[in-house]
Amino acid sequence: MDLFEYQARDLFAKHDVPVLAGKVAETPEEARQAAEQLGADLMVIKAQVKTGGRGKAGGVKLARSADEAEELAGQILGMDIKGHEVRRIMVAEGADIAEEYYFSILLDRSERRYLAMCSVEGGVEIETLAKERPEALAKVPIDPNEGLTPEVARTIVEQAGFPEADHEEIISVIGKLWDVYRKEDATLVEVNPLVKTEQGAILALDGKVTLDDNAAFRHEDHAGFVDKAAENPLEAKAKEMNLNYVKLEGGQVGIIGNGAGLVMSTLDVVAYAGEQHGVGPANFLDIGGGASAEVMANGLDVILGDEEVRSVFVNVFGGITACDAVANGIVNALDILGESATKPLVVRLDGNNVEEGRRILQEANHPLVTIMDTMDGAAAKAAELAAK
Ligand code: GDP
Ligand code: MN
Repeated sequence: MDLFEYQARDLFAKHDVPVLAGKVAETPEEARQAAEQLGADLMVIKAQVKTGGRGKAGGVKLARSADEAEELAGQILGMDIKGHEVRRIMVAEGADIAEEYYFSILLDRSERRYLAMCSVEGGVEIETLAKERPEALAKVPIDPNEGLTPEVARTIVEQAGFPEADHEEIISVIGKLWDVYRKEDATLVEVNPLVKTEQGAILALDGKVTLDDNAAFRHEDHAGFVDKAAENPLEAKAKEMNLNYVKLEGGQVGIIGNGAGLVMSTLDVVAYAGEQHGVGPANFLDIGGGASAEVMANGLDVILGDEEVRSVFVNVFGGITACDAVANGIVNALDILGESATKPLVVRLDGNNVEEGRRILQEANHPLVTIMDTMDGAAAKAAELAAK
């Protein structure tokens, strides 16, 4: 999950990274109140959107009074920055910037370790710097077993070429940013710019943080960072039910399968079969090993809630959970759903105890269910029904 700047700033503050005070506002009036509360001579009005280059796009502006804060907030709210509508701004204390630096820690998957990047030429886009002046960007690997030790931090500041007098201060800030990265289970912590003010203080003026969703279970407070307004409502519902669901735009055939690999190949065969009917897969949904009636009902409930879906393809390969259990799951799920099940279901079962599974479905003889023997046949049938 990518965080908004103000959320990253909160995490920075939690780990004692030096940041300036800021308040979030959704209207110009709230921005005025925030500015009055901050009571600073210099303030920055910053668009809160999950994309970079806000400054260049006119989404970061300096204000010197509450009046000006209100007026600039009015200009920035509602702006479109690279396809992101600005619904929120941050009114923050402004800094007298003397120097702008760059610092980041990221997960280097191919090298199976972390990587710190740092430059005394910050503020500009890092991709540009990396391309045009790669020698100005220090890259220091971090051994995951050792972490970003003070020795590594020293290597970083030396390679980046900070003036000697600033070393201790920067090393201390880097240590705190490492705390954010490690203790919050982030996969990216980026500060651009990290600044030195005219008064000589080091501050993180902009923060970009990506949290590892796989670690969400050990960070209850991270749930508060989820941007509910931006979430697809079906995906949100699926998440609540602990389902592994991804909505695909423009498809009409709902997909349920067990096992991510099987579901991926189901998407392929449906896309292929759908070509001649002008339809395609509407979602990814892996119900995993269990395939109980409840999980099946939850999965069907989410998929049938998708207005674009016109037919559903249930593709299950019986393994540890045998086909008869899955068939009972489908029958009971349709019972649970009752009248809210309204779209045709094409079911293909194979694997462990397949004969018994098919028998159960045939006996139940549900009017919405078509049983098919092969995956290709079932995909063709589901596509045909979706096109009707
Ligand atoms: P980004 O463009 O999305 O990366 O947004 P930033 O938060 O990095 O802001 C862009 C630029 O605005 C920075 O590089 C600074 O030059 C400037 N800026 C941001 N905050 C302040 C501030 O407090 N004071 C001053 N003088 N400039 C600021
Ligand atoms: Mn920035």
